[in-house]
Amino acid sequence: MATKKPDIKYTQIFINNQFVDAVSGKKFRTINPATGETNAEVAEGDKADVDKAVAAARAAFRRGSPWRSMDASARAKLMHKLADLIDRDAEYLGSLETLDNGMPIKFSTFFAHMAADIMRYYAGWADKIHGHTIPTDGTNFTYTRKEPVGVVGQIIPWNFPIMMLVWKWGVVMATGCTSVLKPAEQTPLTALYIASLSREAGFPDGVVNVVPGYGPTAGGAITAHSDINKVAFTGSTEVGHLIMEMAGKTNLKRVSLELGGKSPLVIWKDVDLDEAVNIAYDAIFANQGQSCAAGSRTYVHEDIYDEFVKRATAKAVARKVGDPFDAANEQGPQIDDEMFNKVLGLIESGKREGAKVECGGNRLGDRGFFIQPTVFSNVSDNMRIAKEEIFGPVQSILKFSTLDEVIERANKTTYGLAAGILTKDLETAITFANAVEAGSVWVNCYAAVAPQTPFGGFKQSGLGRELGEDSLHEYLEVKTVSIKMPSKN
Ligand code: NAP
Ligand code: MG
Repeated sequence: MATKKPDIKYTQIFINNQFVDAVSGKKFRTINPATGETNAEVAEGDKADVDKAVAAARAAFRRGSPWRSMDASARAKLMHKLADLIDRDAEYLGSLETLDNGMPIKFSTFFAHMAADIMRYYAGWADKIHGHTIPTDGTNFTYTRKEPVGVVGQIIPWNFPIMMLVWKWGVVMATGCTSVLKPAEQTPLTALYIASLSREAGFPDGVVNVVPGYGPTAGGAITAHSDINKVAFTGSTEVGHLIMEMAGKTNLKRVSLELGGKSPLVIWKDVDLDEAVNIAYDAIFANQGQSCAAGSRTYVHEDIYDEFVKRATAKAVARKVGDPFDAANEQGPQIDDEMFNKVLGLIESGKREGAKVECGGNRLGDRGFFIQPTVFSNVSDNMRIAKEEIFGPVQSILKFSTLDEVIERANKTTYGLAAGILTKDLETAITFANAVEAGSVWVNCYAAVAPQTPFGGFKQSGLGRELGEDSLHEYLEVKTVSIKMPSKN
């Protein structure tokens, strides 16, 4: 496993299989969140660069282009090649991710390999996307075609940069679309490196383009562009609103959104307590708490509440936090000073509003953006820490008495991304799974996201689904062809 800091090979914009400077010549810094030091100066794309990238993606999508003329099975072969290259360089990619994002090295390397598996999953779909023949009344011969929607603008966040990129590119490549992707300002490096791998794999010019830059400028230019057919966004609910609004104001581009969450994890009274504590711990603390699906409201049955709090606190206190390049560490820094201050601010609000700090509650060390694993008990539903997405290592433990009560409280949120329940009782589990308003429900496990499983939100957690067969439909138009025939036969 790589524990040395990697060399940074690519810092320019990727358009038409070439690395180029920004039209403006501007650059921005990307920071190592473990130290606050600068990792690299990266080309800062804005509208002019997005225009160039969209032109390249449009040319790659034109009728007769190498990409449009390619057999679907040949697209799959390129995707398998890219997956193999990601696996080949997984250790390097993992270390680049750790440098840019602060994710502990054992997880970043694991996710790089998982990214290769996701690419292979989508490669399997490439030649299995097809329409129907339809027995219309009368004599017409009618069939449907599933056609790629076209040039797709993709805007991704910083919390799982490699994964988010591959989720977005896998479906683009499987469906035969082309892409202009903006990575998050905090984490552009792995996207640029994987772009170089796509070139090495042999993807034609312009199929995938990467424009690093800032949200309001590069991201805004993607969202407003009239030659982009669809925008796919992962990030905050706040920006999700802006994206839909801009799509409505411009060309009615299709929109899919993966947004925030405040996901409930319900712990029934019949559980094995240590196992429940472990699942709840992973559900909230994984990835420094920076996960859209984090189990950020831990609802514990009153009969086991006090003992659960005691054991959850002991587990959080023992969490190994520190240098993400040290393979022993489970938790690294938060992504940047803005998120670090936001999380600390929400912790302060919890203290002020009367929740009890069982452990943590402060920054860790005096360098980088580290926060102590924090456990709050005596949390009530109206506190900010129970309502707002914290996106940090903060467990909020709430007490409940009955199933009906906890279902109502679980659903009392504008979000609806995920939910979990731990119980040995099948009826309790199924009643909860049916009643909870969430795109994914996990029973006796948490965050069981797989390439094959659709993932996305109810309510303001999003629109559309990623992964699984359902994700393909977000990138396809249905065309109905009806042909006049003299007779039925
Ligand atoms: P964000 O602003 O929504 O960032 C996500 C992506 O959208 C980034 O690439 C960002 O660019 C871009 N963006 C920002 N403003 C835009 C605009 N006006 N038009 C087009 N694109 C735009 O999220 P954040 O500020 O990094 O984090 C804030 C909160 O979002 C977090 O506290 C968390 O609650 C939530 N979040 C959710 C997820 C998720 O997986 N659902 C991931 C990350 C964050 P920049 O890099 O320049 O900002
Ligand atoms: Mg932002």
